[in-house]
Amino acid sequence: MFQPCEICGADDWSVTYKGPIRAGGFGQQQAGGIVGRCGGCGVERLDEACSVDSAAYESEAYRAAMGQGLSVEEFFAHADPTQLQNLTALWPYSLRGKVVADIGCGAGSFLDHIAGIAGRIIAVEPTPLYHDSLSGRGYTVYPYAADAAKAEPASADAAVTFQVIEHVPDPVAFLKDIAALLKPGAPLLIATPNRADILMSLLPEEFPSFYYRRVHRWYFDATSLRRAVERAGFQVQEERFLHGFGMANMLAWLRDRKPAGHARLPGIDRAADAQWKAYLEASGQADTLYLLAKNSG
Ligand SMILES: [Zn+2]
Repeated sequence: MFQPCEICGADDWSVTYKGPIRAGGFGQQQAGGIVGRCGGCGVERLDEACSVDSAAYESEAYRAAMGQGLSVEEFFAHADPTQLQNLTALWPYSLRGKVVADIGCGAGSFLDHIAGIAGRIIAVEPTPLYHDSLSGRGYTVYPYAADAAKAEPASADAAVTFQVIEHVPDPVAFLKDIAALLKPGAPLLIATPNRADILMSLLPEEFPSFYYRRVHRWYFDATSLRRAVERAGFQVQEERFLHGFGMANMLAWLRDRKPAGHARLPGIDRAADAQWKAYLEASGQADTLYLLAKNSG
């Protein structure tokens, strides 16, 4: 069912999940998902037969099926609230005056948050839907990192890629394209959903059908992401875990056994959220895994 691991080369897969997976927008599911775990590096992979073809990301149908809408404004509505977390993950690195590339930038929500200080911005996004808007804001636009690296090799001072690596067919090839765009020694910040999210342990019956999804081929923990990044020629600097949801989200999941979003519960306030987030981030069980690496170029 699985070919040798694209991350580590081992041919040692065991099936860890069989069942419904998330499809499209919130609340939609698809039966027959199969997830394997690599014995070599620990990465998990959705069976290719269940996965979305990578060309889908160039189409409007993908955004529509994800319930994300087709307009730049709709993209901002779901992406803007996540940017404070992405900026937090960058700390204490400054992008002032730098040539910054965002790989898989969507309509450019993160880029708008740094546009005031970056020297120049390279916006890499396969969906043509957003290209006019991105170039209208003064960003240099390419569909893929390989196109950007070909046009201007070793030109970027820094790159970020948020919630993208889990979609691509070959994560190591994807990272090598980014390395070719970066100057030697330049940093790359990656974010991906954390396979070690505490809800995977707390709700092993209910959470996996929400966590695994048709559009995500890859499910990384810190070890497997590190392996992918090193194999692509980067030096890992630091891993960091950040959690976007509060304590009420976890309690509502435990009570209702279904997605809870940012719902509030009586008596669970921001102080409780802060304690809960701090615990998950310190113990590596937060929802988002960030990794900062340096291009050894
Ligand atoms: Zn592997």
